[in-house]
Amino acid sequence: MAESTVEVTSRLGLHARAAANLVRVAGRFSSKLTLQRPEGGLEADAKSILDILSLAASYGTPLKLVATGDDEDEALAAVAGLFSRAFDENEKAEPQRPLTVRHEVRRQGLGVSDGIVMGRVLRLQKGARDVYRAEIDDGDLEHERRRFRAAVRLSRRQLDAIKQRAEKELGRGHAYIFDAHLLFLEDAKLTRDVEDFIVNERSNAEWATKVVGDRLLSIYAQMNDEYLRERGSDIEDVIQRLLANLTGEGLKYPNLSEDAVIVAPDLLPSTVAELDRSHVKAIVTDSGGWTSHMAIIARGLGLTAVVGLRDFYQRTRTGDRIIVDARQGEVILHPSADTIAQYDFNLMPRHEVEGSAFESGPVTTRDGVSIALRANVELPAEFQAVRKYGACGVGLFRSEFLLSRPGLMNSEQDQYEAYRALAEAAGTDGAIVRLFDVGGEAGHDTGEAERNPALGLRAVRFGLRNKDVMRTQIRAVLRAAATGRLSLVVPMVADVADVKAATRVIAEEIEKLTATGELFSEIPIGAMIEVPSAVLTAEKIAKELDFFELGTNDLVQYTLAVDRGNDQVAHWFRTLHPAVLYGIQRTLEAGRDAKIPVIVCGEMASTPAYAVLLAGLGATDLSMTPAMIPRVRSVLSRIDTSEAKAVAETCLAAASADEVEAIVRDEYKTRWPDLFAPNMLPRSSDNV
Ligand code: PEP
Ligand code: MG
Repeated sequence: MAESTVEVTSRLGLHARAAANLVRVAGRFSSKLTLQRPEGGLEADAKSILDILSLAASYGTPLKLVATGDDEDEALAAVAGLFSRAFDENEKAEPQRPLTVRHEVRRQGLGVSDGIVMGRVLRLQKGARDVYRAEIDDGDLEHERRRFRAAVRLSRRQLDAIKQRAEKELGRGHAYIFDAHLLFLEDAKLTRDVEDFIVNERSNAEWATKVVGDRLLSIYAQMNDEYLRERGSDIEDVIQRLLANLTGEGLKYPNLSEDAVIVAPDLLPSTVAELDRSHVKAIVTDSGGWTSHMAIIARGLGLTAVVGLRDFYQRTRTGDRIIVDARQGEVILHPSADTIAQYDFNLMPRHEVEGSAFESGPVTTRDGVSIALRANVELPAEFQAVRKYGACGVGLFRSEFLLSRPGLMNSEQDQYEAYRALAEAAGTDGAIVRLFDVGGEAGHDTGEAERNPALGLRAVRFGLRNKDVMRTQIRAVLRAAATGRLSLVVPMVADVADVKAATRVIAEEIEKLTATGELFSEIPIGAMIEVPSAVLTAEKIAKELDFFELGTNDLVQYTLAVDRGNDQVAHWFRTLHPAVLYGIQRTLEAGRDAKIPVIVCGEMASTPAYAVLLAGLGATDLSMTPAMIPRVRSVLSRIDTSEAKAVAETCLAAASADEVEAIVRDEYKTRWPDLFAPNMLPRSSDNV
């Protein structure tokens, strides 16, 4: 046995990264290595990161190092050397602020859903979940352990990938955190304890993981050292990941405090859709852009949201106080008393428009042009907003959100009920149901991950490859159409061939329903025009269909080759690009020539200043986030379309988005000085 006394020389104490280095060095030797902390009588295995962290050894703590085994002297020398070198840490990489003082941290992102709120951070990785206990028969215990090991392996692969990406995008200084996560994951203290718990308690793997995880977390919660205590959130992440991989089910968020602000690296649209909105005040994410589906849903739900904050998630801890100011696109962590005083939260209505009565029906411009204002709807929870905000029915029902929980709502009958409720909510103006637009950023459950999901098996392509899914949906819509006014729109068609393939399937389902004598109704069929090839062949496509819907979000994405969900390229996502305006004009013209309606349903229509430009390009049918209808109505009712047309023509002649934005700013200020506050107009090099 070899012994030595060492002292913690790292300024941050034996925290995750130092402990990770220690585990790595200790792991090179076969000898057993322990660290003893005489004060408190604690002992830790130097090869277990969780054990080491539970020593809660801060700067200056004396420790006894004991090595036993064949290579004990070498092991002792190597580990003692590491202590003397402050664990080989490059401390410059870590911010060296006094950790007990909580400095206000401000981060600029992109406000994608209006509002200013103050609340408490709730960190979400894959989502906290309810876990239930199940009694496992003796014969199945081995299976349960295998399931746990498989979840560990899967989590490891995921963390490896995350780490690699973090290294590439954030540098080693940030990526080390995932080293620690990987070590937690492989730590015998976690894996052995969970497996022992499964066997001793005849428990299911989920419950065992949760119990063991909670025990570890409680050790952290009791630590005096604030920095080490904060590391508990790393364990929480790993446990949540394991649970997510074990259950493989939808996400659940129990125990939300009333003022929760969800902070996450990224959120799936379905996750946002599933949040308990009576508790969640805002969402804040590291990635995302204005037109990501997550942002669209947040707007639809009236949930304040700031996205594109890069590495903000890592800076937060569940329970931290936070202000989310979507108007300025800013988040303020640990706001000072002065900052809080600047925001008078008591006076700030959550929704300026909430509670008031709104006009309904189409809006008429000053020169007498009638423009329909329809609602974009994602969730059944929003159906009541259609009437509330005076929409002319539902211009776009993004039906894929019915699928927010895999496996749920897939049946024809479930879908039928949903479409029937939609038709009823939409009333005489009707509702347009979009065939599932799965794939792309929302992902889909089948098959391998795609290299370029936005260019892959998305929308109509997914439907044509998964005809059972498509047929079930078509039948449900046709049957529901017997109870109210519905239309069907095919997303992301590239050309006439896609349209013909989709309409053939619809015709086949009509034939089948006729043959079986089921009650149904034939309905208008349209296509989303959102891919440049569809714009360039719009005249031909128009001959095949009853209407067009112009998806400006994807039109910008595909025309400018800019991933709409990638904040790295958000600067290039320019709605007011002349190429986009040209695409819109051309599509509107093709619709006019073929005498079919063209409904503009991308986020452009939800933005008052852009809605004016759309009117100038000739649009007379807009579909938008319901809560934006009153504002768009107010602006359109006070303009002359001939003036809007003059502005649009100048914009079409411009060479770049910068030029168009400058024209919009100047022309709008001159023509409509009282209509547009500066924050309603594009800022220079603004990304909308
Ligand atoms: C669009 O692309 O503009 C659109 C309306 O559809 P989504 O945003 O759902 O892709
Ligand atoms: Mg689209």
